[in-house]
Amino acid sequence: MTQIIDGEALAGEIREGVADAVAAFESEGVTPGLATVLMEADPASETYVNMKQRDCEEVGIDGIHVEVDADAPEAALFDRIDELNDDDGVHGILVQMPVPDHVDERAAQAAVDPAKDVDGFNPENVGRLVAGEPRFRPCTPFGIQRLLADAGVETAGADVVVVGRSNIVGRPLANLLTRRADDGNATVTICHSKTADLAAHTRRADVVVAAAGVPELIGREEVTPETTVVDVGINRVERDGESTLVGDADFEALDGYVDAITPVPGGVGPMTRAMLLYNTVLAARRQTGLDVPLP
Ligand code: NAD
Repeated sequence: MTQIIDGEALAGEIREGVADAVAAFESEGVTPGLATVLMEADPASETYVNMKQRDCEEVGIDGIHVEVDADAPEAALFDRIDELNDDDGVHGILVQMPVPDHVDERAAQAAVDPAKDVDGFNPENVGRLVAGEPRFRPCTPFGIQRLLADAGVETAGADVVVVGRSNIVGRPLANLLTRRADDGNATVTICHSKTADLAAHTRRADVVVAAAGVPELIGREEVTPETTVVDVGINRVERDGESTLVGDADFEALDGYVDAITPVPGGVGPMTRAMLLYNTVLAARRQTGLDVPLP
């Protein structure tokens, strides 16, 4: 039988733990604060930011939302980020990507104080991650590590194939999984759009992480009955005249065939959101020096 790895349930537990941590901060007179900064107001970005603000509200984190006019000069964004960097009530800052074309994305990420960079995309923090000493783990890879640990999937000595080499999922996950750490010590292969024979790699993996943004890329041909599949993909497709959400794995084909799989929705997605809240209380703990237990 295939184990369905329930990200919704684990994310719920983490949110409860974060809410307890927030209560402990409150009793010391501190409210952890997360600022979201939105410049390019496309509908998907607005939805993401709204979800993050709702998540904050649910656990008692002070959500501060800042909008910068999409036509404003780059400096206007950097000024707002600087103000948040200097604000003691703001412990975490997230600049929603994408930014408008006239803004240098890397410079926007670099403008965030590394100590408040709960997304983990400031180049200094990327460097620390690559060196095996992450300050903040990017939320999606972090969520995947927690999911695997909770599901009892051992990474030490395992062959993990990560499909996708993006800076937000594939690359940081590969770095985290190869660390000398209890939730690392894996042998990792990164596959991408130019990989010659994807199935040859994924079929010999203990764990396949599908993060390509290609609907149902991973089917029975790409796995074995021993494989654990972590499906990061979120793809909207038309099915029977209706718009529906599918992952990068063919869930119907793999359920009942592979050893374990994360569903879409209800797998990696809720974990990404929960780990942002976790990183915010982690940031607050470091900045205040308060020894609050984290989930
Ligand atoms: P991206 O487009 O930045 O990167 C996709 C990667 O997949 C690229 O490195 C590319 O080389 C590789 N790729 C594309 N086609 C491939 C193929 N046929 N075979 C092998 N590799 C291929 O995407 P991203 O931002 O990393 O996101 C990937 C997917 O994960 C998307 O569906 C995105 O919506 C989803 N996502 C989900 C979460 C979550 O929390 N669940 C978070 C981030 C991204």
